[in-house]
Amino acid sequence: MTSTTHAPIVIVGGGLSGLVAANHIVRRGLPVAVLEKASAVGGRAITREKHGFLFNLGPHALYRAGTLQQTLCDFGIAVRGGVPTGAGGYALYRGRRHTLPTGLASLMTTGLLDIAEKIELARVQTALPAIDAAAADRETLSSWLDAHVRHERVRDLLRTIVRVTTFTNDPERQSAGAALAQLQLGLKGVLYLDGGWQTIVEGLRRTALAAGARIVTTSPAVGLERHDAREVTAVRLADGTAVRACAVVIAAGPDDVDAISGQTGFASTLPSPVRIATLDVALRSLPRPKQTVAFGIDTPLYFSVHSALARLAPQAGALIHVSKYLRPDENAGREVEQELERLMDDMQPGWRDRVEARHYLPSLMVTHAEVTAASGGLGGRPAPRLAPFDNLFVAGDWVGPRGQLSDAAAASAADAARLATEAAGHAAQRSGAAIQIA
Ligand SMILES: Cc1cc2nc3c(=O)[nH]c(=O)nc-3n(C[C@H](O)[C@H](O)[C@H](O)COP(=O)(O)OP(=O)(O)OC[C@H]3O[C@@H](n4cnc5c(N)ncnc54)[C@H](O)[C@@H]3O)c2cc1C
Repeated sequence: MTSTTHAPIVIVGGGLSGLVAANHIVRRGLPVAVLEKASAVGGRAITREKHGFLFNLGPHALYRAGTLQQTLCDFGIAVRGGVPTGAGGYALYRGRRHTLPTGLASLMTTGLLDIAEKIELARVQTALPAIDAAAADRETLSSWLDAHVRHERVRDLLRTIVRVTTFTNDPERQSAGAALAQLQLGLKGVLYLDGGWQTIVEGLRRTALAAGARIVTTSPAVGLERHDAREVTAVRLADGTAVRACAVVIAAGPDDVDAISGQTGFASTLPSPVRIATLDVALRSLPRPKQTVAFGIDTPLYFSVHSALARLAPQAGALIHVSKYLRPDENAGREVEQELERLMDDMQPGWRDRVEARHYLPSLMVTHAEVTAASGGLGGRPAPRLAPFDNLFVAGDWVGPRGQLSDAAAASAADAARLATEAAGHAAQRSGAAIQIA
């Protein structure tokens, strides 16, 4: 397939975007090296095992019609799990639990909405798949809801679903177009994964290695070496060594890109990160086995027993994520942990006596930059090519015009991989090295 005397394409970062990019590049027959600063790859998609319970970093759901799932299929990586429908779930409103309206029967019976609100919700839900989401890219979610939805409680409910699908709690800034696009994707279903998201990480790692990629952990990149203002020639590591590169993809956050490139200034120009506080709990058994889902309608809270649908816990055990969607400027401390514990008390009374393990993570970064109306929606995110360089690219959930969350990571990784492959071809032509792109 390939013969080359050229330096590899170097990918900085072994999270999902780095691993997806590596797979695309080796499939084109080019040498690739992934440098990961942590002792293992996976980034925010890792799953930690404790006493037989599998903890993702907060609640993770794979969008069945999203770019990441499609990418896994293309690479022959099979994942399995359960599809949450919300059926039997609760809507938390003014301190009370109501039936969560997820289908016709629950819409008819819920005490959350009066009859006029039910009719309006049914109308919006019917219209949703055909809405031109991109047309609302520059409109905020709040203004779109004000213009299109008459009843405040229906607006509340739609804000809730947007929070659950985008993790964003900022309707005054969030792009309505991006929110609607994610709702439309959500209608096609999500998967809670058997074995957790580590199965994706392991699948991507295995296929990359099998195709010839090199993956080096405990290797923090700290800078770049250049031939001139436009061409990067190597990635410098913290131990002072340099890894030669014909092209580089930085598959990490905007701060990392700034630090490594020394000049891009992304961190200060991008919208705020999207964060949640989450209490991840493993229980020996569930006090109330049927109470597995609750979404806050007037509070940005989430409760879901992920092990009810996916293999994440030993027999009879339960793995639960209880989370709060944080405002951009919100700091969550012990008081938010207590708020999440109270939700546990409400949904699973007596849970405290059955705890096998728990982790409170007060500020988890879900995506590096919110998709705002002011920045033009998804189309306003940074492009994968980093000017003024000819051979330096970025990938991650804050890059490129396609998808959100891990789907953006996978989509931008594909774009960066393609551009890096082209740049490698040009570099080879200039130097006369033999390189053949499959
Ligand atoms: C709580 C939570 C819930 C989420 N839920 C969902 C969900 O339901 N659905 C969904 O699709 N997505 C979800 N996501 C988002 C998804 O996890 C991320 O979009 C995805 O994992 C990002 O992958 P990445 O590779 O772009 O970034 P990361 O995972 O952050 O990977 C970046 C990697 O780069 C490494 N790195 C950084 N700097 C350097 C350096 N200088 N040198 C070497 N290596 C470096 C880091 O160690 C890290 O491994 C969630 C995220 C969180 C935190």
